[in-house]
Amino acid sequence: MAESKKIILTGDRPTGKLHVGHYVGSLRQRVELQNSGEYDEIYIMIADAQALTDNADNPEKVRQNIIEVALDYLSCGLDPAKSTLFIQSQVPELTEMSFYYMNLVTVSRLQRNPTVKNEIKLRNFEASIPVGFFTYPISQAADITAFQATTVPVGDDQLPMIEQTREIVRSFNHIYDEVLTEPEALIPQNESCRRLPGIDGNAKMSKSLANCIYLSDTPEDVRKKIMSMFTDPNHIRVSDPGRVEGNPVFTYLDAFCRREHFEKFWPEYQNLDELKAHYMRGGLGDVKVKKFLNEVMQAELEPIRERRRIYEKDIPEVYRILQEGSIRAEKKAAVTLARMKAAMKINYFDDQELIAAQALKYGEE
Ligand code: ATP
Ligand code: MG
Repeated sequence: MAESKKIILTGDRPTGKLHVGHYVGSLRQRVELQNSGEYDEIYIMIADAQALTDNADNPEKVRQNIIEVALDYLSCGLDPAKSTLFIQSQVPELTEMSFYYMNLVTVSRLQRNPTVKNEIKLRNFEASIPVGFFTYPISQAADITAFQATTVPVGDDQLPMIEQTREIVRSFNHIYDEVLTEPEALIPQNESCRRLPGIDGNAKMSKSLANCIYLSDTPEDVRKKIMSMFTDPNHIRVSDPGRVEGNPVFTYLDAFCRREHFEKFWPEYQNLDELKAHYMRGGLGDVKVKKFLNEVMQAELEPIRERRRIYEKDIPEVYRILQEGSIRAEKKAAVTLARMKAAMKINYFDDQELIAAQALKYGEE
């Protein structure tokens, strides 16, 4: 393939602060991959141009949330010395690539994308969908391929986007030349992390659904949200047997709790299996389980909040990090675009052979 390095590209839309779904679905893994030292290059993108595809009338929202997402990144442990943090709109090569990729994708193929279908419904775009929103999977292919990414750590709602990208890569390489790298999605091994439900029990925690626990929520907000969480609606009395499947309190425990949390906060149980067994048997109340979940989540979130407070004191520095990252990202994207244009034979002025051949054709004597 075109690139033998191991390269990561992933990102988030600046449509709000990041929540614990982002954290377990992608962010936590990114930090682990970053610190594993196994990757040659890591690009983390704040997808402002993509956010504008369904927020065209609200650019201020996107603008305000760039710093929020950047602060969330840094507070989770993404390190600008190891990962390039950048803003999508500051890399114009991405737009140019998207324009050429549009020739390789059909309208019906885009219409089949289940995630886009879902999001169209969610945004009431059925009657009239903005072209930019409809084609965002193509622009996402540009984001990934511009950096020759081999690995894209994401939640499972993004799998159709990665598949679309792979098809574009195959098509491009087949028609023009082997320039682009086929990426692989990296979804969390833990199934509960692939699509964390909302606190309301909705299948996905999402900024657009207002059912989130944010990484930057205060301890008190987190506690209140956990105590108000949807559980098993048939678990009315403590003595009733409860269900753990589809019960978001247990899904969150699956995603967050480790053995040492039991030792520390609830030594009556050895592990989550024991706790689940008791809940299913009956005799264990929701409030107790929620209190434990609160301890577990506060323990995970406190170091993140602490780092956030430090970065919040130096906002100009955060913008500087993003600017530096954007410059670095553009350099890389420009190399890929130049290779693409050469393969597509739209590099007229660099091609001395072409100029000479045309001259010959017109018989310069
Ligand atoms: P929006 O509603 O604006 O689309 P979002 O909450 O879906 O926002 P995105 O910025 O679209 O967030 O997603 C960024 C990344 O986080 C993607 O990799 C996505 O798969 C992952 N992600 C988002 N929500 C969840 C979730 N509830 N569980 C696991 N991963 C998630
Ligand atoms: Mg989304």
